Amino acid sequence: MRILVTGGAGFIGSHLVDRLMENEKNEVIVADNYFTGSKDNLKKWIGHPRFELIRHDVTEPLLVEVDQIYHLACPASPIFYKYNPVKTIKTNVIGTLNMLGLAKRVGARILLTSTSEVYGDPLIHPQTESYWGNVNPIGVRSCYDEGKRVAETLMFDYHRQHGIEIRIARIFNTYGPRMNIDDGRVVSNFIAQAIRNEPLTVQAPGTQTRSFCYVSDMVDGLIRLMEGENTGPINIGNPGEFTMIELAENVKELINPEVEIISVENTPDDPRQRKPDITKAKELLGWEPKIKLRDGLPLMEEDFRQRLGVPRKN
Ligand code: NAD
Ligand code: UDP
Ligand code: UDP
Repeated sequence: MRILVTGGAGFIGSHLVDRLMENEKNEVIVADNYFTGSKDNLKKWIGHPRFELIRHDVTEPLLVEVDQIYHLACPASPIFYKYNPVKTIKTNVIGTLNMLGLAKRVGARILLTSTSEVYGDPLIHPQTESYWGNVNPIGVRSCYDEGKRVAETLMFDYHRQHGIEIRIARIFNTYGPRMNIDDGRVVSNFIAQAIRNEPLTVQAPGTQTRSFCYVSDMVDGLIRLMEGENTGPINIGNPGEFTMIELAENVKELINPEVEIISVENTPDDPRQRKPDITKAKELLGWEPKIKLRDGLPLMEEDFRQRLGVPRKN
């Protein structure tokens, strides 16, 4: 099986590549422009005969011969996707169009990593796949939310019009080793702050909720979706729901009991609640997450301590 992973130098992508490379029958090609990803995440595979890394921007056409495409390329942290919103929407729209054109030409199956952000600031809770969402089309998050919504539309139009085999995962907040240290997402922020002994910055009001999935569970869900028979969209996420204050308290207790928790200003359009209904993933993929937040945070702490050069005391 020859497999293309776009965005494979990023956080989730590099863990997916590790898992795909474990199967000796797979050849893996990564296409990435290194906007938020890094070669470092893939260093153990560089030079491997079944692995190839291409510096490529998915907004440009790509000619390769593959059987499967995992299409992840897109910055996922709000700081990075808001940094150049026009580029973000091009990546989502033109990038997905190009990968679908590629899938059509070579007859490959393609999986899109969509997002829980397609539900916007959701009015139903927990979110099921049949919910159409509550998204501001002109807000500062829209380049990402609406970009992914168009990407999903393109996937289904290519499926209906050209018979392309598609898979759509709606990913909920995911965390784990290799997240960018200054990536701006909440789990990486809190862990880095706790290790550096800086206050944990809870954005107001702090009662907003998220549900956090450990990256190995996520990768397992993505591969099951690709290998299964369902197009999706299917929610992949951990239904354990936490307020940001609870998350900060957990990080404080597990990583640095001395650290202070402070309230800071929030950014516009922050969704107030988010929790996946994973009935479909359970029934159709036989998948559910195994790693609880309190077990996953210490695994991530190890990696952050190494990269920050701050060993644990004692
Ligand atoms: P990430 O930022 O670590 O990885 C994204 C990768 O895509 C990076 O390596 C980046 O360099 C690359 N990239 C960005 N724009 C590109 C372009 N135009 N051409 C080629 N490569 C490009 O993010 P991640 O957390 O690993 O997210 C991976 C995917 O999962 C994204 O599609 C994201 O939208 C989706 N997702 C992630 C989360 C999460 O919590 N991590 C939640 C929902 C959805
Ligand atoms: N494309 C690509 N790689 C391929 C085939 C197509 O990047 O192997 C791009 C192509 O450049 C086009 C997009 O995918 O911009 C959509 O291709 P499709 O064939 O569906 O549409 P068309 O080229 O007819 O507009
Ligand atoms: N957040 C926070 N402190 C931070 C970063 C984020 O309290 O230092 C909050 C943010 O307001 C949001 C939640 O954490 O309610 C998740 O934000 P993140 O950027 O990680 O991901 P999102 O789910 O918003 O894409």
